[in-house]
Amino acid sequence: MTVWVRGDHLVRNRGPLARRPNDDVLLVEAESFGRRLPYHPHKLTLVFSAMRHFRDALREDGRAVDYRQVDTFADGLEAHFAAHPEETLVTTEPQAHGSRERIEDIVADAGGDVEFVPDERFCCSREQFDAWTDGGQYRHEGFYRFMRRETGYLMADGEPVGGEWNYDDQNRETPPEDWEPADPPTFDPDETTTAVAEWVETTFDGGYEDQPYGGSWADPEPFRWPVTRRQAVRALDHFVEHRLAEFGPYQDAMRDGEWAMSHSLLSTSLNLGLLLPEEVIERAIAAYEDGDAPLNSVEGFVRQILGWREFLRHVYRREMPELATANQLGAEADLPEFYWTGETEMACLSDVVDGVRERGYSHHIERLMVLSNFGLLYGVEPAQLNRWFHAGYVDAFHWVTTPNVVEMGLYGAGVFATKPYASSANYVDKMSDYCSGCPYYKTKTTGEGACPFNTLYWDFLKRNEDELRSNHRMGLMYSHVDDKGDEEWDAIRERAEEVRTMADRGDL
Ligand code: FAD
Repeated sequence: MTVWVRGDHLVRNRGPLARRPNDDVLLVEAESFGRRLPYHPHKLTLVFSAMRHFRDALREDGRAVDYRQVDTFADGLEAHFAAHPEETLVTTEPQAHGSRERIEDIVADAGGDVEFVPDERFCCSREQFDAWTDGGQYRHEGFYRFMRRETGYLMADGEPVGGEWNYDDQNRETPPEDWEPADPPTFDPDETTTAVAEWVETTFDGGYEDQPYGGSWADPEPFRWPVTRRQAVRALDHFVEHRLAEFGPYQDAMRDGEWAMSHSLLSTSLNLGLLLPEEVIERAIAAYEDGDAPLNSVEGFVRQILGWREFLRHVYRREMPELATANQLGAEADLPEFYWTGETEMACLSDVVDGVRERGYSHHIERLMVLSNFGLLYGVEPAQLNRWFHAGYVDAFHWVTTPNVVEMGLYGAGVFATKPYASSANYVDKMSDYCSGCPYYKTKTTGEGACPFNTLYWDFLKRNEDELRSNHRMGLMYSHVDDKGDEEWDAIRERAEEVRTMADRGDL
């Protein structure tokens, strides 16, 4: 048998590599992967460089590694089975919907056989989750409490440490003006990463114009993400020592030009398998127990990983393939061009999109309350925004991007979101300093210079009244809808049309 390690399963002390310590290893670096979408160059550099570093680390440990650089997986597997006829590969169960079947077909066509072992990069198994839902509805809060009890994380005598399940009331602050977060660590490219980055630049430069909705990324900053286990552990140490304490209070805050705030920047390492969720959680809890980070920060951080990340993975598994194209609000607008170019006068969107162009990253609230919120209010077709997130983000993988964008961001399916995350300029203004430097007026809804978030917010509620009014969580919003008279609605519709025309023309 040979262990086939795929590019987002770079785990050594669990899974097939740990279970079969004496078997040879196969890695297939398939160039065609990079052509599926106009990926951010850092995403491609990250995955391919991490694979090559993983190969080198395994070889240093004395394992025999067959590393195939080919155009497609099929080419790589054909070459492998030509050298090792009728062999059986063992690999990790893939997360992406339909991947298992595709792999089985490709392997069978190449004349071999494949066995799958469970993906052990997560805290909650398929069986655990399915027993928890028991066919019922999904609610994150219930799942999170279940996981706290299952794992015992932040639990004492069957009760949550500190007496509460969450400390959100302490976690909605914005930092004072003179606040300066610790600089996030950077991992300067070594020879391997530099070679990959150059290859990515020459191989995948442009060529996406024929894709539906176009798109490409220009002039990113130097590459900065961890590509080895050692670097990922350093990133975790740095976060826990310098940023975790302030993660909680400022987790929802945004500041112009401050792209990382106190976020961990660990999603790429977790999603590639360079870090395992348990070690990240346990490290954060240890900081709390040692008195180095407050409970509101540590609990908030643990919830993102033990709760949301695990929850969305299983929702994706159970709700695909319908989730990918879900569109319960019938949103059909094309994604405005400025999502690719960053060319908009709106201060929040311009800064956040520039950040994605520069480093393939923005933090959660920017993804949810700026990028998705605008897409939701504007009525962007969910599959289009989903594709953009997939292309633009270094941490994007189907199992995590799709439920976040289609459901959490755009309320596409209504499988776990109980209402859309729709908000006017009010939220952005409360949680950031963007509005003070923006040419649009945060307090205006209609007429020249009105903030598009305001106009589109009311237009969204009116447009989707049939679907949303009966939702009891939307009652307050619709009571404000009812306060508006015909004249005001005419002005809102007129300004909304104007906003759309400006977005189409590229001068919003
Ligand atoms: P932190 O804020 O430091 O949080 C710690 C960790 O918690 C993250 O590294 C991540 O592993 C986990 N986490 C937090 N929130 C979520 C969540 N909603 N879903 C899953 N994991 C979560 N995350 C991705 O990993 N890949 C994506 O492609 C992705 N796309 C998103 C798209 C939208 C529209 C939204 C709203 C969220 C998306 N997220 C995605 C979730 C979240 O925004 C990122 O995980 C987080 O911003 C990564 O930055 P960080 O490591 O600094 O996270």
